[in-house]
Amino acid sequence: MNAELPSMRVEDKLYYNRYLVDVGRPHVKVRAHATPSPQLLALLKACPARCYELNDKGQVEVTVDGCIECGTCRIIAGPTGDIEWSYPRGGYGVLFKFG
Ligand code: SF4
Repeated sequence: MNAELPSMRVEDKLYYNRYLVDVGRPHVKVRAHATPSPQLLALLKACPARCYELNDKGQVEVTVDGCIECGTCRIIAGPTGDIEWSYPRGGYGVLFKFG
């Protein structure tokens, strides 16, 4: 028996999730800023679902459609007030039963 686990990319695993987006009510918000703090810049690499991106003004933006609610960004940038984080309303958000 081969004990080696098959390799799989994070992106491939995320593909099996499904999301019910609460349109117009994002559960993660980035505080308005001119220049991103170190904590906001860290989110560009720390978010496993790559929800954070730089816009053309060099500011950090979040798109929560693919958020897996892991809380990583809340730990990094919540205490500094750079983001507001809450769970989605009941029935919305990620569904993990497909992978
Ligand atoms: Fe990304 Fe996790 Fe934050 Fe969602 S909770 S935006 S997946 S770091």
